[in-house]
Amino acid sequence: MTFKYWQNHALYWRDFILDLIFPKECVGCGQEGSWLCPSCYQKLEFSKVQYCLNCKTENNSGEFCPNCRNEYYLDGVTIVGNYDDKIINHLIKMLKYHFIKDVAIILGNYLVDFLQKTHNLPILKITKIPIVIPVPLHKRRRRWRGFNQTKEIAEITAKHFQLKINATNLIRIKHKKAQAKLNEEQRLKNVAGCFAWRGENLTGANIILIDDVVTTGATLNECAKILKQNGASQVWGMVIAKG
Ligand SMILES: [Zn+2]
Ligand SMILES: [Zn+2]
Repeated sequence: MTFKYWQNHALYWRDFILDLIFPKECVGCGQEGSWLCPSCYQKLEFSKVQYCLNCKTENNSGEFCPNCRNEYYLDGVTIVGNYDDKIINHLIKMLKYHFIKDVAIILGNYLVDFLQKTHNLPILKITKIPIVIPVPLHKRRRRWRGFNQTKEIAEITAKHFQLKINATNLIRIKHKKAQAKLNEEQRLKNVAGCFAWRGENLTGANIILIDDVVTTGATLNECAKILKQNGASQVWGMVIAKG
């Protein structure tokens, strides 16, 4: 063992321990103690409009309009917040790229508050009690990240509204390229065949599919296709923000 080895080793452990004890700071105001302090949380706004994801015609719920409905398996997508909001943007990035699981709790509560305060939700539009399903990650990616952020958000939502949750039977069977760099047509091809349902028939079930961010809706729509092929009646996407 050389001195250099031990020096590097010591530096590694020093950084490791600093990371452990380094205090959490509010992404809004920098106050120590949490990733988002209560007063910055109170300032978060909800999305003021919902619209057909395809043609952007506004409505109350995010349902696809009569003109666009036939092009989708999904019935609609409800968007909770604004990706332009610096705090929301920051929290989603922390969750996705910095593996900070506690942030999922903040975003899960934010989604619950949205549902409670706005009453603008697919749960009210569909009569039969829905099942909450998170958009799954491929197991390789889940292992790498340590958790599935959408599952954490879905669990908080389901628990609060005492809804059934199924986080195990919709699975991602293919690990494809990240969608971020692709255009709309490429996204559709990229997600085709990525998901499978490994559960009982969903005959007549209404589903709320949870994801963190929606862009074109290609991923949610591919999940909806699989769920409807397995008997689901309505499938609604519910996301924290539109990217
Ligand atoms: Zn703050
Ligand atoms: Zn439309």
